[in-house]
Amino acid sequence: MKPARFEYIPPTTLEAAVAALAAANGEGKILAGGQSLLPLLNFRMARPAVLVDLNGMKELSFIELRGENVAIGALTRHREIEHSPLIASRLPVMSAAIRHVAHLAIRNRGTIGGSLSHADPAAELPMMAMFYGASLTVQGPAGRRTIAAKDFFVDALTNCLEPEDIVVEIEFPILQHDGWAFEEVARRFGDFALASIAVSIRRGQFGVGEARVAVMGVADTPLRLEHVEQRLCEIAVDGRTPDRFAEMVTSSVSPNSDVHASAEYRKHLLGELAKRAMQTVLAVKG
Ligand SMILES: Cc1cc2nc3c(=O)[nH]c(=O)nc-3n(C[C@H](O)[C@H](O)[C@H](O)COP(=O)(O)OP(=O)(O)OC[C@H]3O[C@@H](n4cnc5c(N)ncnc54)[C@H](O)[C@@H]3O)c2cc1C
Repeated sequence: MKPARFEYIPPTTLEAAVAALAAANGEGKILAGGQSLLPLLNFRMARPAVLVDLNGMKELSFIELRGENVAIGALTRHREIEHSPLIASRLPVMSAAIRHVAHLAIRNRGTIGGSLSHADPAAELPMMAMFYGASLTVQGPAGRRTIAAKDFFVDALTNCLEPEDIVVEIEFPILQHDGWAFEEVARRFGDFALASIAVSIRRGQFGVGEARVAVMGVADTPLRLEHVEQRLCEIAVDGRTPDRFAEMVTSSVSPNSDVHASAEYRKHLLGELAKRAMQTVLAVKG
């Protein structure tokens, strides 16, 4: 099918882009990589009156070290993240996760701002935003504001943005870790995940000193499991830790059944992935 008729606006400044969205009275949509939006337009599941194309704004495409954070511009393509030495050295879990995003052609066009805004519950970059505790800088008619990732993802395919808001950049705090793992199962490589987990730990005097755990594919949004992180720091680390960790993780989620997998199967997968991830993390010598 072909999209319904729309007005195409390619602004050259953020202010002009926000103004075009505001003038559209809620009938405007941003076009970034188009990998999620264009199928929706073609199937006429989205019928915006105005399409505001960000692709002319090259200043929205960057990856830079900013103090203790890595800042990524909203228009940065998945492929640039995949090949960034800065991401590989400072955000290695993201570097591993991005390889699971779709296929080469899609990674060449898809952007981080588009992926976060689309808010698919089985997408890797929203999960990474939760895992790292990222903050998003958003420009709207009243200027710029910052939104924490935990407040950004509201529901499946739903974020907290107003229709005139544009995600400008995302800051990811750099985590210190002694071991990390990213595990995912999809039906075919590049498909959206059925279940996935990211884990990192810092060793403490008696076991785990700090932990970070995020999961996706098992709820309407990606989840950071803070109570599991805390529990991990309280238990003795021994040969039973991967099994205990898997139990903690699976008892924290209530997935839905859908056409791709039953709730029970997703939970089972997540448990196996959690066990595997913890084995990897603990195998790193302190
Ligand atoms: C076959 C296929 C398989 C895929 N598999 C995966 C996968 O395994 N994992 C995965 O994570 N993704 C997957 N994707 C999605 C892909 O990663 C998309 O690139 C991504 O979800 C959307 O990014 P985009 O830049 O293409 O956004 P677009 O499609 O241009 O936009 C998506 C939505 O975000 C809004 N938007 C875009 N940019 C901004 C902004 N800066 N501020 C505010 N709103 C904005 C748009 O208005 C639209 O509503 C797949 C896509 C396809 C077609």
